[in-house]
Amino acid sequence: MFSSMLEAFLNLFRPIRTLQYPAEEIILPSGYRGLIEHDHEACIYCDKCEKVCPPGAILFFQHEAGEKEYRYNPWLCIYCGECVRACPKPEEALRQSEKKQLSAVAADGANEQWFVWEDACRQSREAYTAAKKSAKIQSKSEE
Ligand code: SF4
Ligand code: SF4
Repeated sequence: MFSSMLEAFLNLFRPIRTLQYPAEEIILPSGYRGLIEHDHEACIYCDKCEKVCPPGAILFFQHEAGEKEYRYNPWLCIYCGECVRACPKPEEALRQSEKKQLSAVAADGANEQWFVWEDACRQSREAYTAAKKSAKIQSKSEE
C-alpha cells in the first residue's frame, strides 16, 4: 500500500511517457509493418494474396476482357504481412511499407464502400467464369 502510494507520488515528477500524437511525431521502429503497397506492373495476378488475407482486405475485380484490378482496404487490414509472405514476387509486386497504419476506425463510409466493392468483385468473377464456360460449350458444339 505504502509502496504504491509512493510510486504514484513519484510519478508526479517523472516525464510524460504518452506521445501526444498527432501533435508529436511517432518514431517508427525499423521493420515496422505498415501499409501494403502493390505494383501493377510486377503483379502476375495469381490471387494468392487475396486468398491468404485473414480479414479479406485484398480483392481483385475481374474485367470481362480478362485483366484484374487490385483493391486494398487499409482500414480492414490487420498488417499481418501474410499477403507478402504468400506472394511469389515479394518486394516487387507486393510489399509491406513503413507507411503508418491507419486507425481501425474507418473513415466515414469507407467500409460501406468496401462491402459494395466485395459484391461487385464476387459478381464479376461469377460472370467471367460463366462466360468462359459457355464459350467452351459453344466451341465444343461447333466441332
Ligand atoms: S497485411 Fe494481412 S490483413 Fe493486411 S492485406 Fe496483407 S494479409 Fe491482409
Ligand atoms: S500474390 Fe503477389 S503476384 Fe499474386 S496477385 Fe498478389 S500481389 Fe500479385
